[in-house]
Amino acid sequence: MEPIKGLHHVTAVARDPQRNVDFYRNVLGQRLVKRTVNFDSPDTYHFYFADETGTPGSVLTFFAWPTMRRGVHGNGETNAVAYNVPKDALSFWEVHLKKNDVKTDPIEKRFGQDVLTFSDPDGMRIELVESESLPEIRFWEEGPISREYALRGFHSVTLWLDEVGPTAELLTAQMGYQAAGQEGMRYRYVGEPNTIGSIVDIVHRPGKMQAGFGTGSIHHIAFRVPDDGSQLEYQASLDEAGFRVTPVMDRSYFHSVYFRENGGVLFEIATNTPGFLIDEPLNALGELLKLPEWLEPNRAEIEQNIAPLTLTTIEKVK
Ligand code: ZN
Repeated sequence: MEPIKGLHHVTAVARDPQRNVDFYRNVLGQRLVKRTVNFDSPDTYHFYFADETGTPGSVLTFFAWPTMRRGVHGNGETNAVAYNVPKDALSFWEVHLKKNDVKTDPIEKRFGQDVLTFSDPDGMRIELVESESLPEIRFWEEGPISREYALRGFHSVTLWLDEVGPTAELLTAQMGYQAAGQEGMRYRYVGEPNTIGSIVDIVHRPGKMQAGFGTGSIHHIAFRVPDDGSQLEYQASLDEAGFRVTPVMDRSYFHSVYFRENGGVLFEIATNTPGFLIDEPLNALGELLKLPEWLEPNRAEIEQNIAPLTLTTIEKVK
């Protein structure tokens, strides 16, 4: 079996759809590459923010649930998602985020890299990591952030767990990850080194409070495989290892199987294919509400039940 190289996407929960889009698109400079609904609950939006084309490993998605209570950070969840940024970009981000009323933590060193941490408007933790070797992405030229500072896909995710062992065992024995060091209570695991989203960090927090799911929580993290065949191999081998893996689900832009790892975090294995260009052209990604064929008959009702969304004119950040 081919080892997993890294993340495909991360899915989180926001309260206000317009505020969510304004923050990720206009402040962080991620392109809204797809505007659809939660296929399991079509009265709520599902947004995909990524590079220009939705390259796997750059995709952060949100369910917008306006009536959900706020989540509480704790064990058994993904606590943070980190993006790569170019060397010397963090001083730009400190100023830019401050201008947008986003409070940042002091820059810290982690495994030799500078890390800037802040929260999105729902309280979800985002980290920007200065990286010497930046992964290939499709830079969004029309976005607000210039290339020398722009986010370059995921660097890592951080899981907060009671125990390191079982999840480390899953990553290394079942998914092709390698242990790559420890700093304090933080343990690092790497898929294919120097590729997009290749790092999973586990922060060991024995006996600490469990997370409470809600807005600002990360719902699940998805790892990428090249195609359906590879996904079926993982489905079978994880099943054999005792995980309860779901059947394959068609998410239009990729295919998914899900399972809960022993620390409580929901994992997904997602295919790189068919991708986000399957139902709209590159220059129009994210502009219209897209629905899978089986929901098209309900379009009028669905559109009535979700708030209208405005994509404001992008202003380049000076
Ligand atoms: Zn997913």
